[in-house]
Amino acid sequence: MVEDRRAPMEAVLRKQRSAHHQMRPEPMNLRRDRIERAITLLKKHGDDLCKVMAADFGNRSPLQSMITDIAGTANFGKYCLKNMDKWARAEKRHIQFPLGLLGAKAEVRYEPKGVVGILSPWNFPVNLSFGPLMQVFAAGNRAMIKPSEFTEKTSLLTKELIEEYFTPDECAVFTGGPEVAAAFSELAFDHLVFTGSTATGRKVMEAASKNLVPVTLELGGKSPVFMGESADFAKAGERVALGKMMNAGQICLAPDYLYVPESKVDEAIHGVWEGTAAMYPSLLDNEDYASIVTDRHFDRLQAIVADARDKGAEVIEVNPANEDFSNTNARKMPLTILKNVSEDMKAMQEEIFGPVLPVKIYADIDEAIDYVNQHDRPLGLYYFGQDSSEREKVLSKTISGGVTVNDVLFHVSMDDLPFGGVGPSGMGSYHGVEGFREFSHARSIYTQPKIDVAKLGGFKPPYGAATEKAVKTIMK
Ligand code: NAD
Repeated sequence: MVEDRRAPMEAVLRKQRSAHHQMRPEPMNLRRDRIERAITLLKKHGDDLCKVMAADFGNRSPLQSMITDIAGTANFGKYCLKNMDKWARAEKRHIQFPLGLLGAKAEVRYEPKGVVGILSPWNFPVNLSFGPLMQVFAAGNRAMIKPSEFTEKTSLLTKELIEEYFTPDECAVFTGGPEVAAAFSELAFDHLVFTGSTATGRKVMEAASKNLVPVTLELGGKSPVFMGESADFAKAGERVALGKMMNAGQICLAPDYLYVPESKVDEAIHGVWEGTAAMYPSLLDNEDYASIVTDRHFDRLQAIVADARDKGAEVIEVNPANEDFSNTNARKMPLTILKNVSEDMKAMQEEIFGPVLPVKIYADIDEAIDYVNQHDRPLGLYYFGQDSSEREKVLSKTISGGVTVNDVLFHVSMDDLPFGGVGPSGMGSYHGVEGFREFSHARSIYTQPKIDVAKLGGFKPPYGAATEKAVKTIMK
């Protein structure tokens, strides 16, 4: 029953909100202390968290987890510590003439919203729970987290550690499956951050709308790679391979498909092949190469490839050591390049989210731009090439959450750049000052001077000459 699941969470929400009201305005040193505790938790228990992430995935390099989930997140906490005083400063705003001269004042204060819900996915389970948490804390809020059921061991350890480092009225974790998630998304939070698929994002927004809870939706989509004629295809291939093979392509920003000029298709594919083989000379026993998270996710990827093959795609497996993947239950899959893809293939209809790389061909870059514009606005967009006018054409004629030029993924790792999608790839963002503002309420404060401004401005009845004069002046 949804009600049974909701009741204990509602109790924690009430407790957190009441503590928040008592502590207003959430002193900066308390916020800082919470971020420092979150950083200490990551530093002290990073190894344990990496171990459970590896167990949850079947195989996931603890060193990869250390950089993507632990160090990267702790570093983001440090960035928040460094910038939060500046972000939290009230801003003076312009006052219309002549009110400023008469002593009126206007300012915006960025105030905590209260209790923020964080719903996170399995692909970077620590980063995508603790990352938003750092900025939720920086903005002076309290948090309730519901991590993914697919990385169950990580979620349980996260809960244990949060209980050790925080009081339940500062931060609390709730584990469980989609029923718990659905009940969680119905809570009357002051803000809700959801990271996950576009399909679930729709459900979350619908549930949040019942209480008019503002949402940040960090979703997915098909992030295209534009390869210009002038690209260095060896370098580009290596960079695409890195972005597609890390975490076995289970990255929201992973390059979803390549768009290459007709004359360079083989060169582009060769670059990706070489780049992959150099980083992953073998795959099955290679600790650096992650497994697909569950059988269901694995089967979905196999089905995408089978469907493309049936419909006429050329399937190129990047299997440098010629390993036999058919007799293993490691849920590992070589990078599978799909050449000659068409629109009726699943590979071109859904987010890939794994090591499958469709390659599309264009005769003219405008064709590629039109194609992207006719589809859902992507989370990321990548351009490779040295032709600055072509690059600007691609950037200024398309829309996406963010962009990396001459590489993939990297814009998300810039702490000071807002990270988020647009349209079906999401709304709102965090990172940068934008994240602080996302989790704050921008409260307008106007202070009236002693003089009777209403009378002076013609607002005060009985309306007459003063009002007419004011209207005339304004409409001049
Ligand atoms: P998902 O949408 O299946 O699940 C995400 C979370 O939603 C989980 O905690 C889950 O328990 C919860 N959930 C499930 N059903 C729910 C419901 N009915 N109501 C409310 N919550 C529910 O996503 P996933 O498979 O865990 O992650 C993969 C997707 O996430 C991909 O589409 C990927 O692109 C996207 N993603 C986006 C970002 C980003 O920052 N934009 C980052 C990582 C992943």
